[in-house]
Amino acid sequence: MDNWILKGVKNLVNEPCTVNITSPTQVKVKVTHLLLTDTDALLYGGEIETSYPRIPGRAAIGVVTEAGEACYGMEKGTRVYFEPVRACGECLACKSGKPKDCVSTISAGKDFDGFMRDFVVCEYTDVAPLPDSVDDFHALCIETIAIAENIYDKLNLSAGQRVAVVGADFSGNILAQVLQYHKVIPVVIDNNAVNLERAHKCGIYYAFAADDELKNKILNATSGNLCDAAIYCANSKLPVSITTRLIGNDKTVVLGFTSASNAGMEIGDILKKNLTVTGVSTAHDYTDAVINMLVHNAVNINFFEKKVLTEYNPAELLSGGTDLKKGIMTILKMIF
Ligand SMILES: [Zn+2]
Repeated sequence: MDNWILKGVKNLVNEPCTVNITSPTQVKVKVTHLLLTDTDALLYGGEIETSYPRIPGRAAIGVVTEAGEACYGMEKGTRVYFEPVRACGECLACKSGKPKDCVSTISAGKDFDGFMRDFVVCEYTDVAPLPDSVDDFHALCIETIAIAENIYDKLNLSAGQRVAVVGADFSGNILAQVLQYHKVIPVVIDNNAVNLERAHKCGIYYAFAADDELKNKILNATSGNLCDAAIYCANSKLPVSITTRLIGNDKTVVLGFTSASNAGMEIGDILKKNLTVTGVSTAHDYTDAVINMLVHNAVNINFFEKKVLTEYNPAELLSGGTDLKKGIMTILKMIF
């Protein structure tokens, strides 16, 4: 039995314990697979602050082993995805019975205990049933796809517009595929040849290296107009200053996903071009929409390498950051 607890910075210990349902609206779920995320690595290293003790792990799926009598649509054996973001229960929206409009959402592994453990007891509304056609690996990507979808919504784009995606690792690749699903044309930029090659394999036509020729390539790809928006994947190693150079006047730059970076943006282009800059790091209430997208094959993750581990030392795995930047998904398979 596993129950990994972060007791302080880089102090992760396994303290097995027993959990039981205490209300008719709770489910008990056996965690089966957990994807190590950048957020887990940043929490482990102390670059994202939390209060201790705290169980890390935010991208996980499992199987219901017990359901209270008021858990609608859940029964023993239901395969589920754990919501990594929950409504706070404290703000005005939450107290008025509108948790979907919560202004102060809380996040797994940071504000409440995550899923790096054998069993989780939670409200049945904190897990989402998974259709058979959504496989385990795609289900582990739901939050990344949800953030991509949230970014797409924020940008208010129309079909055929060109959008620069700076950074083509795990999250950048998924974001580009989500844009493509919505008939927006992604222009992916990365300095890693493997990431560019993977983007091509996923059907992304414009995938460029961030070299001296970049601006000309962008001009060619946009009939001389530059891009209609740009998204900087915050975990990318590329300079954020590239981003504002790739878009035209009055456009929007999104800083997306999770990072502990404090890189500054150059204000020159932002002022001169009258740009809007916005950040998107979470996606509350997107899970059902994303599961529906996956049923329709919106995102293909077959080109990411997957390391599925049944024996592991999570502290060791998290100490150097994850391999998501190299397009490798490290998945803990939690068996009895
Ligand atoms: Zn709230």
